[in-house]
Amino acid sequence: MTTEPNPYRDLPSVDKVLAEPALAALLAEYSHGFVAGAVREQLAEARAALGTGSGVPTAETVALSVAARRIRAWRAWPTPVINATGVVLHTNLGRAPLSEASIRAAESSGAYSDLELDLDDGKRSTRHRVLAGLLCELTGAEDAIVVNNNAGAMLLGVAAIANGKEVVVARGEASEIGGGFRIPDVLRQSGARLVEVGTVNRTYASDYDEAVTADTAALLAVHRSNFQVIGFTYEPSVAEVAAVAKNKGVPLLHDLGSGALIDTAPFGLAHEWTPQQSIAAGAGLVFISGDKLLGGPQAGIVVGERELVARLARHPLARPLRADKLTLAALHATLLHYLRGEAAEAVPIWRMIAATLDEIEARARAVTKAVGAQASVTTGESTVGGGSLPGDMLPTWLVSLDPSGIDGGADELARTLRTGEPAVMARIENDRVLLDVRTVLPAQDAALAPAIRAAFEP
Ligand SMILES: *Cc1c(COP(=O)(O)O)cnc(C)c1O
Repeated sequence: MTTEPNPYRDLPSVDKVLAEPALAALLAEYSHGFVAGAVREQLAEARAALGTGSGVPTAETVALSVAARRIRAWRAWPTPVINATGVVLHTNLGRAPLSEASIRAAESSGAYSDLELDLDDGKRSTRHRVLAGLLCELTGAEDAIVVNNNAGAMLLGVAAIANGKEVVVARGEASEIGGGFRIPDVLRQSGARLVEVGTVNRTYASDYDEAVTADTAALLAVHRSNFQVIGFTYEPSVAEVAAVAKNKGVPLLHDLGSGALIDTAPFGLAHEWTPQQSIAAGAGLVFISGDKLLGGPQAGIVVGERELVARLARHPLARPLRADKLTLAALHATLLHYLRGEAAEAVPIWRMIAATLDEIEARARAVTKAVGAQASVTTGESTVGGGSLPGDMLPTWLVSLDPSGIDGGADELARTLRTGEPAVMARIENDRVLLDVRTVLPAQDAALAPAIRAAFEP
């Protein structure tokens, strides 16, 4: 009796793969059970592949695949990236890079702390108390509460103020903020009914006024963070809408998004409406992000009238949306930069926005010189990004890389930079790979040129 060749029987055993030198480093660092599990998974894939006609892999091939995959997944994460894209608030790269002080604050908050304790009298306190104090000083508001992110803040705010009632929004502001976050959906989820007023391009204060009924709980204004409406347009000022709200006895909720605490105009950008201005104009609650133009950690900050903030704090959603101690500590340290008047130097995103063309040119030329013949400097534009100041550009100097000597050209060079150590994110334009040093943290400058040179090596 002859037996058919059976490739399934020829697959290496788990123990044989585990004995391969390629897995020694993983086995030294991680639990045997998890490495063995990874080997079993890889062998199961190889077995399935046999069914589709693939050959039998050797123990070494299986071990190398396991090592390659698991080393990537199990090494320290997130992997630091040099952001040379010129996009200051890059959502995929974690939005705002934190200041040194904020990073230290988050680090030291990891241990036990007085997060919810008053050390003076030994009694229970709230995690909101200290931050609320700073936020009131910075914005002129009566009270504040911090939650996980601005989307959560909005959900909480509308749920606490308008559940089962109507919220009046201008048609041109019932927008999508990004990543599936749509104002109409948030209102629905919070149990409020959306009443749209005006037209996509023009809304008047009288439109709000006429839409308010006995069922109206609030007026909602949403900042156009990521799009512009140009041409035949009109919108009332925040103060005018706030006046309508006051007159009707309902609050104005203002979703501001970015939340710049300092004026963007002196940096050559359009003026970004500030939370201070919203409060002064009479908004009842103002919603801002922690990690956009505030330059801090991901957080949702609500500032406003005491009685309204108290309703948010009491709402059952406040607990599921609450922010973690690391976040709150980092936010506290970020806010102190503003209280000290040092934000433009100490908060990384402001330092990037404030960088002069001369400074940027000098840095770009230094990188170019260190890279050599494949690099040159050119002028270009940086953007703020991250749903802030749409269409606003900052002039900059770029390091331009010539990929003509590389198989696969600009795409391949950009990929090599991205997968290198350190990882460098660049952009491609007209078959050149462009690096904007404006968004490179000064501490990463020294690593940039060697990373680029390595990408040119075969
Ligand atoms: C960015 C933004 C949000 C969402 O904020 P996250 O902190 O990202 O949750 C909500 N509203 C506006 C107007 C925004 O710009």
